[in-house]
Amino acid sequence: QATINKIAAGEVVDRPQSIVKELVENAIDAGASAITVEIKEGGISFIRVTDNGSGINGDEIPTAFLRHATSKIKSIEDLISVSSLGFRGEALASIAAVAQVELITKTKDKLNGYRYVIEGGKEKSLEEVGAPDGTTIVVRNLFYNTPVRRKFLKSANTEGGYINSLMQYLALSHPDVSFRFIANNNNKLHTSGNTNLKDIIYSVYGREITANLYEINAKTMDISMKGFICKPFICRGNRSYENYYINGRYIKSNIINKAIEDAYKGFVMPKNYPFTAIHFTINSEIIDVNVHPSKMELRFANNDYVYNFVYASVLSCLKAQEL
Ligand code: ADP
Ligand code: MG
Repeated sequence: QATINKIAAGEVVDRPQSIVKELVENAIDAGASAITVEIKEGGISFIRVTDNGSGINGDEIPTAFLRHATSKIKSIEDLISVSSLGFRGEALASIAAVAQVELITKTKDKLNGYRYVIEGGKEKSLEEVGAPDGTTIVVRNLFYNTPVRRKFLKSANTEGGYINSLMQYLALSHPDVSFRFIANNNNKLHTSGNTNLKDIIYSVYGREITANLYEINAKTMDISMKGFICKPFICRGNRSYENYYINGRYIKSNIINKAIEDAYKGFVMPKNYPFTAIHFTINSEIIDVNVHPSKMELRFANNDYVYNFVYASVLSCLKAQEL
């Protein structure tokens, strides 16, 4: 069992960034309104995620670390329509298989909380402790028991950079959650959780981008898009500022990227890409989800329909302001 867990873990947990993603999504699923992520050495030696969500009942803690222990989603179709982010019930099991994990959790209805330690898939202890409501998970020494995998990690700086970008995406995807991100004891990001997307953009990207945005708000029968796109002169030579979310998830779709980029083509130099922060709500009936353990790829029943709507909406927003 431990071996199976180690192998399968590679698909969910390939670097510190994927651990942070899973833990933060769990916190969001648990209804947290404030989430703090702290890392040291790019997350390789230390990741701590603290939330003020529901907490986990004492008798449910060991099962939460078993593979396929999920209570959240019943079918693949639910995946895109249901609001919870977790669906495979693999994250905690996978993380615990390849690192040293400490969990402290307390539900509101109990006076005490619990501390649980599991390392390399082996339970070390479960005891009652005093704790605030919510959950804290500490992940230490990633891949300490699989040195070969550890070698494939990049430098602490690079791994930390990946987590930093992820935190930016997550903060923009959930304006209603207050995020704090601390790397090597330095505050990197703090968002208010006040639901105003523009405030989050300011916290994440600063003044220049925030001052040069157009609001976009478009709707058709099966798709709505709401958010901000940048003035063309702010466009940059890389794609990493193209943020968008589909039904609250950070998912990529080549069709949507292409539609956005094509709409900008008449306004920018070649190989310049916009900053965007767009929340899409797409009727799950027109989405075809192809699930791979580590990434999600979206296809649409009718790609042209999605492309045309996104392209036309971005283009008309730009034309209205730029021409
Ligand atoms: P999934 O999220 O796919 O259900 P995970 O392995 O990520 O699977 O988590 C297993 C279970 O542990 C979750 O279904 C949830 O019940 C519980 N859990 C994990 N993290 C938290 C948290 N931060 N707060 C409350 N419950 C949690
Ligand atoms: Mg999960």
